[in-house]
Amino acid sequence: MNGVQQFFLFRFSKMQQIQIFTNKSSLFLQNYMLITNFVTLYIMKKKIEIGENSTRNVQRVFFESGGTQSVKLRKEILRKLKQVILANEVNINEALAKDLGKSPSETFLSEVGLVLTEIDYFRRNLNRLAKPKRVSGSLINWPSKDYIVPEPYGVMLHISPWNYPFQLVFTPLVGAVAAGNTVVIKPSELAPHTAACVSHIIENVFPPEWVSVVQGGPEVSQALLKERWDYIVYTGGVNVAKIVAEAAAKHLTPTTLELGGKNPCIVDHSARISTAARRIVFGKFLNCGQTCIAPDYILVHKSVKESLIKAMKKAITASYGDDAASSYDYGNIINKHHFDRLLSLLKKQRIVYGGESNANHLYIQPTLIEVDDTNNVLMEEEIFGPLLPILTYQTDEDLKQIIEQYEKPLSFYVFSQRKRWAKKIMYSYSYGGGIINDTLLQFTNRKLPFGGIGHSGIGSYHGEHSFTAFTHKKPYIQRGSWPDPSYRYAPYQKKIGFLKPLLKWLS
Ligand code: NAD
Repeated sequence: MNGVQQFFLFRFSKMQQIQIFTNKSSLFLQNYMLITNFVTLYIMKKKIEIGENSTRNVQRVFFESGGTQSVKLRKEILRKLKQVILANEVNINEALAKDLGKSPSETFLSEVGLVLTEIDYFRRNLNRLAKPKRVSGSLINWPSKDYIVPEPYGVMLHISPWNYPFQLVFTPLVGAVAAGNTVVIKPSELAPHTAACVSHIIENVFPPEWVSVVQGGPEVSQALLKERWDYIVYTGGVNVAKIVAEAAAKHLTPTTLELGGKNPCIVDHSARISTAARRIVFGKFLNCGQTCIAPDYILVHKSVKESLIKAMKKAITASYGDDAASSYDYGNIINKHHFDRLLSLLKKQRIVYGGESNANHLYIQPTLIEVDDTNNVLMEEEIFGPLLPILTYQTDEDLKQIIEQYEKPLSFYVFSQRKRWAKKIMYSYSYGGGIINDTLLQFTNRKLPFGGIGHSGIGSYHGEHSFTAFTHKKPYIQRGSWPDPSYRYAPYQKKIGFLKPLLKWLS
């Protein structure tokens, strides 16, 4: 069997799967897929004959043949995606339990639930978002009709991390598909059970020329990065982001880079200490501290340090019991490499709570550490684990001196009852996103753009911001042939005395 025959056989079985899957409830989707598949098949056959059958090329042909143009179809496929996710909830829970020790409740709250609401958002708002917008014309161009058309970029590469291995694949994906792109996903190899589950879901919802999953580690990412993409979304660490940015620069490919950083959490002397402690514990120890927007270190006013530590100990035991190892809600470190990295940070530290570990279960207890200054090894890089260094400050100048030692963080938290002071602090520093008197929740409002600045990221997404990020805003003007005054055409020498004040007046 030659390559073309194999391809046809594969497509035929895929179309059958899609038809069986879409069932009678979605006759529209079936018919549309059939028509576009035949158009696509013809063009692909040509490409395959000349040996250009990489996943990216197959998607490019599909995109260029208009496969993703229909907004109705995009909404329909997102509906299918929701259905398949719901049908696979048990598998998703099992995969996340195996990879990160997550409980089904945490999986729903921090992974699946967020994806489902993102899908609902686009199903409700896509017509409005995708519609060309008419804007008022300028007097210089009068009379005219002026429009902005949101145009999908085309074929996207999406490289994903391990810490929220379900949510961080699907949230950008939903926006990318809603915007009309095709997507090749490279999930993290460090969460293999979730990657397999993601792949299974994608195969059951999308034909591969629309969305497909390529599994593997850094070598697979690098092979993908050698190809030319229309857009790249990358979520992960800063060092790999530089590799991604370099590869993208070769083709001038636009990117969204979602990274991390050392996120400060300031606790002022006026803060409601027990609430601050509960909310810090929630934000830091969810997913064992393996959260890009978790507080990385505490800066507490010296006068309230002891009461904050006491309240945080109480909050930890209230959430995870006396023995977090047996807590339903406390997970594990992703792998031995990160387990060893985190334990090495704990050597010779002044631990005020926690510090216990178990290599067999990749368990590290929620741990609070008193730290004197930024020379401590815990203050070198993003911790990304359940270790919380606590530093003290006395003046605003102390805060500035510590915070500005680091690159701009992804998140920034201030606990204070002094509203004006807290606002002043929020405006004084640059960071991806922040909250006064809470942690993490900036992530949950899709009206807010989610992203970093400087070393914590480039670009932002979520809800409407995803649609904006993953489409080119294409302006065009429609004009008639009349009027056509001659003063706009050269020669200008004799007209400039009239044109200068006219342009000034018109603008
Ligand atoms: P990582 O950079 O090691 O890996 C992310 C992805 O890059 C994976 O798919 C991996 O296979 C790939 N990769 C790894 N090495 C590569 C290489 N040399 N060349 C090409 N590709 C390569 O990141 P991680 O450890 O999975 O995630 C942790 C980091 O991600 C933390 O810094 C965290 O703050 C950040 N993060 C940010 C967000 C956000 O939304 N801003 C979310 C989650 C995690």
